[in-house]
Amino acid sequence: MRATVFNSPGNVTVEDRPTPFAGPGEIRLRVGAASLCASDVRVYRGEKYAAPGVIPGHEISGVVDQLGEGVTGLAEGDRVILCPIVACNACRYCLLGRRNRCVKRQTLGYDLDGGFADYLRVPASLVETGHVIKIPDSLPLDLAAITEPSACTLASLELCDVGAGTSMAIVGAGPMGLMHLLLGRALGAGPIIVSEPVAERRALAARWGADIVLDPEADDVRGAVMDATGEGADAVIVSVGINALVPPALSLVRPQGTVNLFAGFPKGGDPVPFDPNLVHYGEVILTGSQNATTDQYRRTVQLIGHVPHYDELLTNRYTVEQGPEAYESRLALAGLKSLVEFPGVDER
Ligand SMILES: [Zn+2]
Ligand SMILES: [Zn+2]
Repeated sequence: MRATVFNSPGNVTVEDRPTPFAGPGEIRLRVGAASLCASDVRVYRGEKYAAPGVIPGHEISGVVDQLGEGVTGLAEGDRVILCPIVACNACRYCLLGRRNRCVKRQTLGYDLDGGFADYLRVPASLVETGHVIKIPDSLPLDLAAITEPSACTLASLELCDVGAGTSMAIVGAGPMGLMHLLLGRALGAGPIIVSEPVAERRALAARWGADIVLDPEADDVRGAVMDATGEGADAVIVSVGINALVPPALSLVRPQGTVNLFAGFPKGGDPVPFDPNLVHYGEVILTGSQNATTDQYRRTVQLIGHVPHYDELLTNRYTVEQGPEAYESRLALAGLKSLVEFPGVDER
């Protein structure tokens, strides 16, 4: 089979790898699509670890192609997505249903082979723990590939209690900021205020339903958020991993509101000053979120096929032979989500 392989930072190649077989308890997935994540790009830049020689890709959809001995509840031909977290199912977090926090967590695409290949052998523990999730017939495999970042976004929105009439301020309209906009809108949030320095992305945010779109380099973001909300936003989402953006983001929240540091920040970055009275007298909740529970994945596949503009997030499409180009496209920040696609797999 053909595979895109991560060798070392800046070094991604296309190789022939033996096609895997499903062992006991495992399944083999024929990959339909796998999308690149900002964290894959951080690996490529040498800012985050992945095992040398691993096949990247943790945002994966496909069709069950082979069942290993003893697998129940799945059938060949099932259209599925994966929650890419291999969890121990025994630690305190796993027992709480928070496998995304498992102390022994391994992740497809970083520690174990992921989706940038024709086939993927899905580990037995992933099958056992319900991390192979069937998708509705109405959800195409290309869109299904972005279930993982969408589930992360749903987890973020739910952590911030976003529902009908929740005011939101989103710092950064990259792919993840825009997902917060689209899914927040779908959950009924409003007003939604987006701050983004790139004009093209501001235009997109406006077209995709943001109530107010601001340029942080020219506009008074705090003033506009206060005008629109009275006391500040109920929920502030920081979707850009730049430390210096945290203090101004903290100034946008209302007392008892929530600020979620959704983005990952560089290791060893500058410390961020903050006023502890924001938390004490303001009772502001300052939190972070990473990944999502299995249940949030399950609910996400029911949601994303019905969200206006959602498929427009898929801007750059590549074949597996073009894997290295897919990485370069993200470095150049061209478009929004880059997808490695396997044409002909999604036959419904
Ligand atoms: Zn991801
Ligand atoms: Zn665990």
